[in-house]
Amino acid sequence: MRLDLTGRHALVCGASQGIGRACAIELALLGADVTVLARRADVLAALANELPRSHAAQRHGFLVADVADTETLRRQVDGLVAAHPVHILINNSGGPPPGDIATAEPATFLDAYRRHLLANHTLAQAVLPGMRAAGWGRIVNIISTSVKEPIAGIGVSNATRGAVANWAKTLAGEVAADGITVNNVLPGSTDTPRIAQIVAAKAQTSGRSMHDVQQAMASAIPIGRFADPAETAAAVAFLASPAASYITGINLPVDGGRTRSL
Ligand code: NAD
Repeated sequence: MRLDLTGRHALVCGASQGIGRACAIELALLGADVTVLARRADVLAALANELPRSHAAQRHGFLVADVADTETLRRQVDGLVAAHPVHILINNSGGPPPGDIATAEPATFLDAYRRHLLANHTLAQAVLPGMRAAGWGRIVNIISTSVKEPIAGIGVSNATRGAVANWAKTLAGEVAADGITVNNVLPGSTDTPRIAQIVAAKAQTSGRSMHDVQQAMASAIPIGRFADPAETAAAVAFLASPAASYITGINLPVDGGRTRSL
């Protein structure tokens, strides 16, 4: 299978931990030059230094940016692509806060849309000219299985994820003829700092132990456990590879079979 990404430059957002970090590692293992983006310079510098290098010319770097600051983000990524065009964009950021949709404040929607829909759009607009010039590009958005089945108790997240999925499907149709694919990976419960916070919050509100909460969540998953972030990242890396050239506009759950819809 054609998986080699030598000579390709990947920009991985939300890369300081969790799924984003795992994506950076997988793409580096396939030979890509990887730029990791998040807000903590020290963490990013250490990660860029630690990422695998499979050939002598492979170079990794980092970009300290807040994806919620749309205008600054655009300027920063314009600077990055001017120096080194991006061929692979992994759109990823922290999940919106939990809560019912009936009581959600408008400001919560605006913040979530800024960190997901507008950030993805801004980053895509900045990298698309370079992808078109190369006649090759991959955009992979990390979203959630809530694209297929809204999840109770995370109303703003559900609404935002649906918007991102429709944005991605529309963009996929517009750029397909340029050799650029746009796909979404939908994680289920994945063993990251984010899920640890969710388990701790559920334990506190229910009075159960974290172990019991985690067991109950895992029992709803046919595979019977949370994903390792590397398992999610493997799907992302495949969609970013030359082998996935005829796949665009899809929503790929990586959820151990949890989603009940087709
Ligand atoms: P995480 O919270 O562990 O990591 C999120 C990353 O995004 C971190 O590197 C963080 O620093 C970065 N980030 C957050 N806000 C940012 C900002 N404003 N600017 C720049 N960087 C920012 O999350 P994760 O578990 O790795 O999940 C990644 C995505 O997948 C999230 O959107 C999450 O909601 C979604 N998801 C996760 C799970 C799961 O079980 N872990 C399940 C479904 C969906």
